This record gives sequence, structure tokens and C-alpha cells, in this order.
Amino acid sequence: MGLRFVSYLYTTKDVPDRWSLVLFLPYCNLRCRHCHNWRLVLGREPARLTEEEVLKEVSNNPLLECLVLSGGEPTVYPPSLLLSFIKKVKKLNPSILVRVDTNGTNPKAVKALKELVDGFAVDVKAPPDEPELYRYATLKPFNRKALEETLTLADGMPLTLFRTTRYPWLTDEKLKKIERFLKPFSSPWLVNEFVSVPDCPFV
Ligand code: SF4
Repeated sequence: MGLRFVSYLYTTKDVPDRWSLVLFLPYCNLRCRHCHNWRLVLGREPARLTEEEVLKEVSNNPLLECLVLSGGEPTVYPPSLLLSFIKKVKKLNPSILVRVDTNGTNPKAVKALKELVDGFAVDVKAPPDEPELYRYATLKPFNRKALEETLTLADGMPLTLFRTTRYPWLTDEKLKKIERFLKPFSSPWLVNEFVSVPDCPFV
């Protein structure tokens, strides 16, 4: 059995200026405060969309430029399952670019996926030298080594970018710390505005 998705979305905003199909996979290993996809993280949204349905969508849209695997957290799935799906997509449309979104907790998966994907969007949720703040943001222990390995593996790939949400607890000084931490890397860093999710149960 292949992957099952909760939903998809067409956008030109997720990968800047490229017409992309974003696929949402259920489940995640973190519990970030104000997570927009918390229902999906908890598996409360039915994942009815099959690989076949997505592949049909890809073949119906030959001008599609990118496919983004998002969630949830795609790396909670076995890399072999993700790679098998990506191979099918690339067989249908060899020029399509593939990006995987990740919270930076599974460098092993990133290493395995790297052979076939064109980049990663990696979240940096707090200054890595503040593990307690990172834990506050994600409600899980912070693994700095995993984040650093993920960033190193993903850095410099054509579609890689690093992302931080400007949470209320991230002061300008803390954002500066993240900026300094990311300085040695070459991929761009985006800071997204915070949007509160009052019904998110992760508190
Ligand atoms: S990493 Fe955090 S924000 Fe992203 S899906 Fe998981 S819980 Fe939500």
C-alpha cells in the first residue's frame, strides 16, 4: 500500500513563483503551539486521497512545476515509501521539481530522500542554543544534532529554504540569534508572520 494524503492545494506562493501542488500527509512527531494543521497532526482528518489520484492530478497538469510533500511531517513515513511515490511522480513528469517540508528531526530520512528530491523546507523554531525555548515551542525535547545535520544535508539544494515563524516568544534578539546560527549556510532564510490558532490543543 502506498501513501495516503489528507488533501492537496495548488499554489504559486509555497515555492516562490512556481506553480506547485502541495500534498498534506497526516501525523507529526512534534506538537507545536499554534500548529495550523493540528487536526492532521493528530490523524483526525481522514487520509482518503490515494497515490493514484495524485498521480492522475500530476498527469492532468503537464505544466506543473513543483510538487511539495508537506504535512504533518513527511519524514515520519519510511523513506522507501516516500521515494517510491516520488519516483512515480518523476516518471510521469521528469521535469517536475520535488520539495519535502520537514521539522528537522530526522536527518536519516533527509539523507535518504536527498538522492531524488530538489530541496527541503526546514523549520527552525527557536535559537538552537536555547533548548528549553525550543521545547516550549514544540512541546517535545529538542535534538540540536538532528537539526544541524538536517540543515547541513539540505543546504544549497535548488529548492531548499529555512523557515522560522515569528512566534510571540521570539523577540528580535532571539531572531537575531537564529540569523547568526544560520549564517554559515547558503540557503535562504524566511521569517513568516505569526498567525494565532486559538483552537489548537497543543498548549
Ligand atoms: S512540525 Fe509543528 S507546526 Fe509543523 S505540522 Fe508538526 S506540530 Fe504542526
